[in-house]
Amino acid sequence: MRSKIVAGNWKMNKSYQEGLQLFSEIETLLAKQPSSNAKAIVIPSFIFMADFAKQAKNVAVGAQNCASEQSGAYTGEVSALMLKSVGAEYVIVGHSERRSYYAETNAVLAKKTEQALQNSMTPIFCIGETLEQRNSNKHLDIIKQQLSEGVFHLSAEQFKKTVLAYEPVWAIGTGVTATSAQAQEIHAFIRKTIKEKYNEEIAESCSILYGGSCNAQNAKELFACPDVDGGLIGGASLKAEDFVKIIHSF
Ligand code: PEP
Repeated sequence: MRSKIVAGNWKMNKSYQEGLQLFSEIETLLAKQPSSNAKAIVIPSFIFMADFAKQAKNVAVGAQNCASEQSGAYTGEVSALMLKSVGAEYVIVGHSERRSYYAETNAVLAKKTEQALQNSMTPIFCIGETLEQRNSNKHLDIIKQQLSEGVFHLSAEQFKKTVLAYEPVWAIGTGVTATSAQAQEIHAFIRKTIKEKYNEEIAESCSILYGGSCNAQNAKELFACPDVDGGLIGGASLKAEDFVKIIHSF
C-alpha cells in the first residue's frame, strides 16, 4: 500500500517562539491521539529545523527548499547536506511560490531533487497549473512537462524514493479548493504518466499529495479519492488543531 502523508508547509510564518509553541501543540495532540494511518511532517523555516528535529517524536521534519548545488561559494544558500545533518527527512522542491517568485525552472528543480536524494532525503516535488493554463486547456501538458523535466531524469530506484504533490496554483492560499473530482482526475493522470515512463508497480507505489486550500473541513473528501495519498497543507497547518484534524482525516 502507498504511504499516506500529511505535510504542513509553514512558509515564511512564525517567530521562533511562536513556531516552537505551534510545534509543541502539534506534538502534544499527536501524542494523545497518534496518527496510525498517515505520516505527519512539519516543514518550518530552515532556522527552526535543527531544534524541532531534536524534539520531534510524532512528526518528521522537512525543509521548504534546498540548494541546487552540492557545496561551495553560493552565498545565502542552504545545501541538502546541511539540511540532512540537522535532521530534515523531506524537502519540498518546486513549490509554485519558488517557481514564480524566484524563477526556479524545471532544470534547476531537477538538480535540487537530485541533491535531496543524494543526501538521503525524500523530495516532495510540486507540480500544478495556473488558472490561465487550465482555462486554455493546457493543464495536462504543463503537468506532463513539469514531470518530464523535473523528475523523469531519475532512475527507477531514485524515483521510488520521491513523493509528488499536485498543487493547482489557482487553489494555493486562495480558499478555492479543487473539487475531489478535479483532484482525482489529475492524480490519476499523473499516475498514468508515471506508468508510461517507468512501470505500473512504480506508478502504483508513488505517493501523490494534493495541495491547495485543503483544510480540516474538506480533507476527508479529498483524501477519499483513490489516487490522493495525502496533503501538502499551507494555511491550515498553522493551527495545531486543524492540522492534526487533517492528519486524522485518513
Ligand atoms: C501550499 O502552499 O503548499 C498550500 C497548499 O497552501 P494553502 O494550503 O494555504 O493553499
